[in-house]
Amino acid sequence: MTKIYNFSAGPAVLPRAVLERAQSEMIDWHGSGMSVMEMSHRGKEFTGILNKTETDLRTLLNIPQNYKVLFLQGGAIAENAAIPMNLLGSGEADYVVTGAWSKRSVEDASAYGKINVVASSAAENFTHVPAFDCWNLNPNAAYLHICTNETINGVEFDGLPDAGNVPIVADMSSHILSRPIDVNQYGVIYGGAQKNIGPAGLCIVIVREDLLDRALPITPAVFNWKTQSENQSMINTPPTYSIYIAGLVFEWLLSLGGVEAIEKINIKKAGLLYDYIDSTDFYFNKVAVKNRSRMNIPFFLKDESLNDAFLKGAEAQGLLQLKGHRMVGGMRASIYNAMPIEGVEALIHYMQQFEKAH
Ligand code: PMP
Repeated sequence: MTKIYNFSAGPAVLPRAVLERAQSEMIDWHGSGMSVMEMSHRGKEFTGILNKTETDLRTLLNIPQNYKVLFLQGGAIAENAAIPMNLLGSGEADYVVTGAWSKRSVEDASAYGKINVVASSAAENFTHVPAFDCWNLNPNAAYLHICTNETINGVEFDGLPDAGNVPIVADMSSHILSRPIDVNQYGVIYGGAQKNIGPAGLCIVIVREDLLDRALPITPAVFNWKTQSENQSMINTPPTYSIYIAGLVFEWLLSLGGVEAIEKINIKKAGLLYDYIDSTDFYFNKVAVKNRSRMNIPFFLKDESLNDAFLKGAEAQGLLQLKGHRMVGGMRASIYNAMPIEGVEALIHYMQQFEKAH
């Protein structure tokens, strides 16, 4: 049977070891006689799973005690609305637009108050992060919103601006846990799970405690970070099975040596693919080198009329989901934590073959 490598941008590949463990525990979790799916979210079994999941995430990202970790629903897009509802008050917020997802964040937040786009790379088709010293930051902004890895455009931040006392709110959906971060530099970190964390249906929000008392009165309880943090993310029924799988992914990452260890592998994987793309005129990537994403690698064939043949041939070799996002075109290889280096090598091997044949 052909070995399958799934390059989907999300929902995306999960570690094989995690899926096998979930399979073995599917019907009878730890002798409880129940599947995790069947358990009360308030029972001792699931409460134990939730606590361990949070503890492991705190260990992986070295999350300080003055930050709350929330396990919510509605995906990152729900947070696009929750962020202004929880933080904007009667003030204004700064947003930086570096790709399709931060653009969407501006659109969603604008319903709740005054949103200022203080820097944008739209005019350059989202191929870089604008230089920090060109950002027109407002020192009185309620917060500064950025998307530190643009999944569709393949643009990743290579540092953070100095925002003074303005809390930075970062959408890390597509690169959370791929590299170490200093949580203290952020007011809020959020991300949908379906890339580096687990199944869709779960969104993680890490929020500094002092930001929890600013919610607008219209904020629904499910999206009110303070209410959720006071109720262990259980103001409603949380996405229990997704949380359980996230917990298994966190255990897997810890067993590999944590984010420091996976970062080394991620640098290697992305390096292999970019180096190959740069070594030939047959393929190209448009993103400024210092902002090239380690997770999402868009690339183009010089002769776009070969796109369909490229995708068909890739699929025949078990290399799936390589079609680029419709907004960008071309190809995109998403190589999250769970993509083994062999998958990247197989892709490069196929790209070389295809180049030779055409
Ligand atoms: N932000 C980023 C960076 C994303 O990649 C995505 C989904 N691909 C979203 C936001 C939206 O996430 P969701 O569909 O889970 O709401």
